Amino acid sequence: MNPIEVNVLGQTYKVYELAPEDGGTMEDGVLGTTDWTTHEIMLRGSIKEPTGNDSLANLDVLYRETLRHEITHAFLFESGMTGSDTFEGDFAHNELMVDWFAMQAPKMLKAFEEADAL
Ligand SMILES: [Zn+2]
Repeated sequence: MNPIEVNVLGQTYKVYELAPEDGGTMEDGVLGTTDWTTHEIMLRGSIKEPTGNDSLANLDVLYRETLRHEITHAFLFESGMTGSDTFEGDFAHNELMVDWFAMQAPKMLKAFEEADAL
């Protein structure tokens, strides 16, 4: 089931799960990436494979959180929030970000369900 397709505000993103050998192309510690220019999300497939040195007991939870994280990046990219804006203060009082989540949350929930990321 590779790739999964997810609708992000009308744009189809393809989610690829990289095989362990391909995951080596990601920097150490990076579990996933989102490229808004190709509309591709890459996930390190080995996230779900216990290494024996894992401090997390349920790696499926980590995998799904990583997938939601990358899909959230895609929503921000497709909304034009590409990092040219900055703000001071904390996220909890950032009205733009709160409005953004309030408006996008239903669409994000649908995308998370499409990607089996919940
Ligand atoms: Zn990120």
